[in-house]
Amino acid sequence: MPDTPPPGALDDATAAAITAAVDAGFDQQIAFLQELVRRPSIRGQEHLAQDLMFDAMAARGYAMDRWLTDPDDIRHHPGFSPVAVSYANAWNVVGTHRPRGTGGRSLILNGHIDVVPTGPTDMWTYPPFEARIEGDWMYGRGAGDMKCGVVANLFALDALRRAGVQPAGTVHLQTVSEEESTGNGALSTLVRGYTADGVLVSEPTGLRSVRATLGVQWFQLKVRGYPVHVAIAGEGANAIEAAMGLVTALNPNGPDRGTE
Ligand SMILES: [Zn+2]
Repeated sequence: MPDTPPPGALDDATAAAITAAVDAGFDQQIAFLQELVRRPSIRGQEHLAQDLMFDAMAARGYAMDRWLTDPDDIRHHPGFSPVAVSYANAWNVVGTHRPRGTGGRSLILNGHIDVVPTGPTDMWTYPPFEARIEGDWMYGRGAGDMKCGVVANLFALDALRRAGVQPAGTVHLQTVSEEESTGNGALSTLVRGYTADGVLVSEPTGLRSVRATLGVQWFQLKVRGYPVHVAIAGEGANAIEAAMGLVTALNPNGPDRGTE
């Protein structure tokens, strides 16, 4: 029986044209990634990187939306995580491709713009926001996690355009803040009304597709001690010493968990 492609599937020639269009734009994609990595978007500085993303999407003609994550807007949602920091620069940006016709399935291409802190810079081979390229590798905080994914989303649509095709359904290109600690930025897009038939988050996962993930759990423990004079320390209780046992027991990588 001949292989019949499902309705709406790409024919080989179109698929090849799209792949060629990705290649044709790749140098430009890497240059844009470099510019994005050079805008340090650790918490509190997300706006500079988001400005670049906003301008890039607007220049391509997408319908634009930008807002600050407001904890009061998302507090009611079961996906909400407690907010322990300022969201003064926790901007989210969405650019929307609107299709010519109706009937196509919609898609969200999502990525986060925030990056984790650099840690001690003297432990870096190159300055963390230089975005230096050596061979086929770019060194920089956030280059892999996940500005390359954010830029890939943007340039994937460029490649379609270059190949002379476009998505038949609505596509929302999203860059969100506050992923590294909570996920409240992505939640904010959902609460704002952005949904789709499918969502692709272009996180680095070793080039494997991941359909579900464990997520994170945050909790606080309070350990109460019993203060006494140092001369009779044995009659008191040291909260830090008591906590050490708890830390060991709760550490998923600790020795107590290794044999399970
Ligand atoms: Zn990430």
